[in-house]
Amino acid sequence: MSQRTADLQAALHDVHRRCAGLGAGSLPDYIPELTKVDPALFAVACCTVDGAVQTVGDADHQFTMQSVSKPFVYAMALEALGLEAVHRRVGVEPTGYAFYSMIRLQEGTNKPHNPMVNAGAIAVTDLIRAVNPDDATERILACFARFAARDRMTIDDAVYRSERATGDRNRAIAYLMRHFRLIDGPVPDTLDLYFQHCAILASCRDLAVMAATLANAGRNPLTGDQVLDVGLGQYVLTVMFVNGLYDYSGRFAFEVGVPAKSAVSGAILAVVPGRMGLAVFSPPLDEGGNSVRGIATLEYLSERLGLHTFRSGGER
Ligand code: GLN
Repeated sequence: MSQRTADLQAALHDVHRRCAGLGAGSLPDYIPELTKVDPALFAVACCTVDGAVQTVGDADHQFTMQSVSKPFVYAMALEALGLEAVHRRVGVEPTGYAFYSMIRLQEGTNKPHNPMVNAGAIAVTDLIRAVNPDDATERILACFARFAARDRMTIDDAVYRSERATGDRNRAIAYLMRHFRLIDGPVPDTLDLYFQHCAILASCRDLAVMAATLANAGRNPLTGDQVLDVGLGQYVLTVMFVNGLYDYSGRFAFEVGVPAKSAVSGAILAVVPGRMGLAVFSPPLDEGGNSVRGIATLEYLSERLGLHTFRSGGER
């Protein structure tokens, strides 16, 4: 084992031990099925751009991706349709709103602010669906599996149905966007696809590999598969950096300093370009909707491993 690998492994074990005791946070109840999860589950995973995967804790426990799916559907849309077509429907600006404030569109254009918030992700999902409505779910599952180096991925039917049954806030925003002609498809169909990709099952290990694929210029470090056009990764990482953690995004960029995306299932995926992908899973959320242990873990790892994008001096 190289010194670097040993250092990384020691850092993962230390952070897991330190953060396991953090008891704060609560489970989101607006998707009832998500309250059934064990709040004690806690995993940290890392995949370097050389393809070395290291994990600690419940790294093979599967949970639904929720908002962590957003950077990947955005990547798919850029790949399928190009920057211009996608950004006719969605902006890149931060919202500055709390994670539950979903019913706001930009003044003037009426476009959703960016593809990392629900409105923007729903607009992007509609674009992917329009390419071919018949195989949209399969296309998303196949693309995510390539990012994760998995043969196939599946959808948690119970969580999908649970969100579909209670998802009126997303329904409202989707109808508003259709009014502004930012969505073409029938709203129920576009939302079905959105709820489905939010309910794709992945483990913390899978998310680290998906993040590492983004860290490695779109090439999966385990399979060598070029999943995303080399020139597009920078756009995905930029919207993650600016918008990945709701209205905590500025503070997270300040403290941790890497592109990331969090999800209400308790996952946070982080990308250290040219170096590694990281993922944390711990379900209890803070008031901003971000995993309590997830934030603490990434703050610690950034400091210990020198991950901040704008860090001066030292080795990267
Ligand atoms: N499916 C969830 C929703 O639309 C995703 C939100 C999230 O993870 N932030 O509300």
